[in-house]
Amino acid sequence: MSTWENWGRSVRTQPVRLLHPASTAEVQAAVLAAARDGLPVKAYGAGHSFTAIAATEGVLLSLDRMDRVLGSDPATRRVRVQAGISLHALNPQLKALGLALPNLGDVDPQSVAGAVSTGTHGTGDRLHGISAAVVGVQLVTATGDVLEIDEQHPWFGASRVTLGALGIITEVTLQCAPAFLLHAREEPMALPEVLERLPELVGENDHFEFYWFPHTEKALIKRNNRVPDGTAVQPLGRFRHWLDDEFLSNTLYERVNRVAARRRGLIPRINAISGSLLGAREYTTDSFDVFVSPRTVRFRESEFAMPRTALPDVIAALQSWFAGGHENISFPIEVRFTAPDDVWMSTGHERANCYVAVHQYWRSDPTAYFAAAQDVFTAHEGRPHWGKMHTLGADYLSQRYARFDDFVAIRDELDPERRFSNPYLDRVLG
Ligand SMILES: Cc1cc2nc3c(=O)[nH]c(=O)nc-3n(C[C@H](O)[C@H](O)[C@H](O)COP(=O)(O)OP(=O)(O)OC[C@H]3O[C@@H](n4cnc5c(N)ncnc54)[C@H](O)[C@@H]3O)c2cc1C
Repeated sequence: MSTWENWGRSVRTQPVRLLHPASTAEVQAAVLAAARDGLPVKAYGAGHSFTAIAATEGVLLSLDRMDRVLGSDPATRRVRVQAGISLHALNPQLKALGLALPNLGDVDPQSVAGAVSTGTHGTGDRLHGISAAVVGVQLVTATGDVLEIDEQHPWFGASRVTLGALGIITEVTLQCAPAFLLHAREEPMALPEVLERLPELVGENDHFEFYWFPHTEKALIKRNNRVPDGTAVQPLGRFRHWLDDEFLSNTLYERVNRVAARRRGLIPRINAISGSLLGAREYTTDSFDVFVSPRTVRFRESEFAMPRTALPDVIAALQSWFAGGHENISFPIEVRFTAPDDVWMSTGHERANCYVAVHQYWRSDPTAYFAAAQDVFTAHEGRPHWGKMHTLGADYLSQRYARFDDFVAIRDELDPERRFSNPYLDRVLG
């Protein structure tokens, strides 16, 4: 029996078997053997979900040996990959093909299957989460059969964000864009100014997001925009990259959080200093190098998607919770934006969203803070990120997703014995 733990150290389980299949046939065999033994089966990618969505005490599959690009079509810019490939490994291989994913989140260790299964997203007024780039999925079902779901298949809408509930994904076809460079411009801006200029900041940039430092009116805004073909790469100098991304954002931040976890009264002053230390910077480089930053300070996170119009009220409600003196919070709050998509269980389903993410250092208990934030988010039709912490169940979630019942009907047909379920899925899907 092995012990499995997620990145955020919020989930720990002891699966009966932990297997590393190297092919679709080996995944089929693992699923059939689990069925024979009456055990549930789950796959995990990088364990980067904060919820127990990937956890099982049955058979746990890592697809880390299924990590190859299988083929690409230059005419359609479609790329077929094995489901266990990480975004970190995929991005440079796409670049070598002259391609890129149109949008990414802010880290890259996740597997393709894990990222799409929970609706992992970045930011962009006219852009979607990674799942919207999925145009085909190969799935090993509970009977051990291999199912190919393409755009014509009636279950296509359910296959791109599956929560891991429909089967084991073994291959994915991704619709890519031509490789592109981004010009990144990061600078501090006072929160009231960010909120006042929001329509312009969101609408006039390809990718806009901001971080707000709790207990202060300080924010750091990030504007990433595509540059014309032929623009020269201008990366950050190595020292500046180390100073900003490694030292200030990670090494120093870890030490600061250790102190803050013991002396929470210092946090408002620390946040004010942090908000001033991360100064303005500009650079131009490959899209995936701009989207992605290293994250070595461990934390827990809760994130909800809400209609964009809710944002000022959501921020005001969080400000008043902080003003109530309940708890001092050291991690900045991250705010992002996406366009509506047609993926049934995506947080972006048919809605232009803002996303508000709250974080807590992993050594501090997030329960009270995340519960207060969840109350604010659910008052605004919030849809929780499937991989980030929340306490909601099927009764609430079925009201938030127009195709919820259709998704559950497909689950009933594909997995009537709940081979791929776990307590988290029982809670959120009923
Ligand atoms: C530091 C950090 C930064 C993050 N940044 C972002 C961000 O910017 N944007 C964002 O939206 N999210 C972000 N996340 C959340 C993360 O992207 C998601 O939780 C994602 O699902 C993790 O991918 P994973 O490969 O680790 O999957 P896991 O967490 O291991 O699994 C997630 C789900 O996918 C299922 N799954 C995995 N592989 C398969 C398979 N082969 N077949 C079927 N199901 C499978 C699992 O069973 C589970 O249900 C972040 C998380 C961390 C820790």
